[in-house]
Amino acid sequence: MNQSELITLASANALNKDFEVKYQNVISDFFSRDPGKWPIFNHPQIQAITQFRQTTDADVQQINRYPQGKDLFAQLAGESHVRQNVIRPGEGQDDLLVFASALCKNWENPLAVENVIAMPSDPAVYGSMLGLLGNPNMVYCEYSGVADNMEKTVIRKVANLIGYDADKASGLFTQGGTMCNLYGYLFGIRKSLKQSKHLGMSVDQDFRIINSQGGHYSNMTNLSLLGVDITNKTIRIRVASDNTIDLADLEQQIRACYTVHCKIPVILLTAGTTDTFGVDEIKQVYDLRNRLCEEFEITEKPHIHVDAAVGWPIIFFIDYDFNTNPLAINDATLAGLRHNVEKFKQLKYADSITIDFHKWGYVPYTSSLVMVRDGDDFKALENDPENFTYFEHALEGQTHLQSTIECSRSGVGVFGAYAGLHYLGVEGYQTIIAHCLQNANYMRNQLLSMGNACVMVPENQGPSVGFRLYSPKLVNDPQAMFAHELTCAGDKTAYDMMVRNSRWHRELFLKRGKAGLFTNWVDSIACSAYAEHNRFAYIPGEKAVFMNPVTQRHHIDAFAKMLKTMSAE
Ligand SMILES: *Cc1c(COP(=O)(O)O)cnc(C)c1O
Repeated sequence: MNQSELITLASANALNKDFEVKYQNVISDFFSRDPGKWPIFNHPQIQAITQFRQTTDADVQQINRYPQGKDLFAQLAGESHVRQNVIRPGEGQDDLLVFASALCKNWENPLAVENVIAMPSDPAVYGSMLGLLGNPNMVYCEYSGVADNMEKTVIRKVANLIGYDADKASGLFTQGGTMCNLYGYLFGIRKSLKQSKHLGMSVDQDFRIINSQGGHYSNMTNLSLLGVDITNKTIRIRVASDNTIDLADLEQQIRACYTVHCKIPVILLTAGTTDTFGVDEIKQVYDLRNRLCEEFEITEKPHIHVDAAVGWPIIFFIDYDFNTNPLAINDATLAGLRHNVEKFKQLKYADSITIDFHKWGYVPYTSSLVMVRDGDDFKALENDPENFTYFEHALEGQTHLQSTIECSRSGVGVFGAYAGLHYLGVEGYQTIIAHCLQNANYMRNQLLSMGNACVMVPENQGPSVGFRLYSPKLVNDPQAMFAHELTCAGDKTAYDMMVRNSRWHRELFLKRGKAGLFTNWVDSIACSAYAEHNRFAYIPGEKAVFMNPVTQRHHIDAFAKMLKTMSAE
């Protein structure tokens, strides 16, 4: 049975008893802010904050729920000068600090499914706090002490999960997935365009950067940061209907470049696009690259960077026994995972990878890791030694000091990631990731049973569920309607229809407000088919991201019921 069929079956989407027990244990041990289990939450102010945040009330109601919330907010907004006197510990209340912490957007709320953002786990909060106390500066090993070794340890562990040679691989924790992608570009640019470090991007060299139309916006913003001519020196490859890079278009573009002796420093792929969870075929791109480099006698091969910022935790299932299924994952999700694992096994063919622990890894911000298959690639990033006069030369070779974009670099992400991996282990991550994916499939199942919804690429088995709702009075076959809408880039009536339907859905979305589940509206939930002159259009829609560990079935049931009732009105 294929994935779309499995999603429609209630039996394939059941919540198995054995799974539920394992899930409840993981929640109570690692996501409950229980001071009995994690004494750091025992501090009275911290308890006040975590207790206040145990709610399903919408964010807009929080200020009224909080004692003197409105006054505190006004007080905070009114402050503009540093006070003169000291406040000795115990003398004054730290009301505003506690208030601001409690009133941060509440990702502990089980209804919060707006984006690829999640509450951090208890152990990762604990680990990050120890990192804060140690306060390492990762610029350089002399200023970070043992934290430097801890970073290397996390990198070794992740290398082994990916299937990299852990002795050869290397990596670096940096400021967000965006910066990881920047490193990815930089590796390729510095390796292929050897003069670029001193002469910039435009000196006497013909090159094109290749990425995918399905990529995250950082794929583009980083290029302008690097001084790459986006209009003339960047090729955005088309995407197939499942939002993965179109391999035929990719081959054609690489051939065109090599035929005129134009270099390709980087090919940037994505393993799990943010809204649609498209996973590019990394091995096929790797083989294609090698084949064409052979054919055209290219010695400096394009660097393949894979943006797995969201998708990377699928690697926890690479050694999962799908036949005995020890976690009792349901059939729809097991099949989806099996399919995904085959794709994520290919991560080992990437030259470097973006990994965000602060997304699906449940670690506090920011905890991003750029993994590199061959640690020697960092040599290409080394800046001239005369720029580093105030460091001890004898120690320089032992760190990436001369290769980093940053100077001061926080170690908090390293500690958070270490703690998350240490306490949850492979099984803890498997349980929580599978829970999220079961939720996503259950939502897809509920939407499809409504009869007036279309689910975006259900075969892309990620945590994000994109959908479009149609008026039952105007549309009787939502799948056929969506197929028609996909032609909107070249067909005026299809375009008008798409706009009309989007307006209907958007009105329902706005009228509902943040109720049931706190979803989001996105301007591009799908990409139309390509029309003449490569033209395409973005189709808007609603999305719910099931990355929240504490969202449960009854929340989804209530939401689906709300959608059904409102659609009928
Ligand atoms: C979130 C995301 C990024 C950016 O990562 P940040 O950590 O937010 O800087 C890059 N790529 C993808 C696919 C993402 O989902």
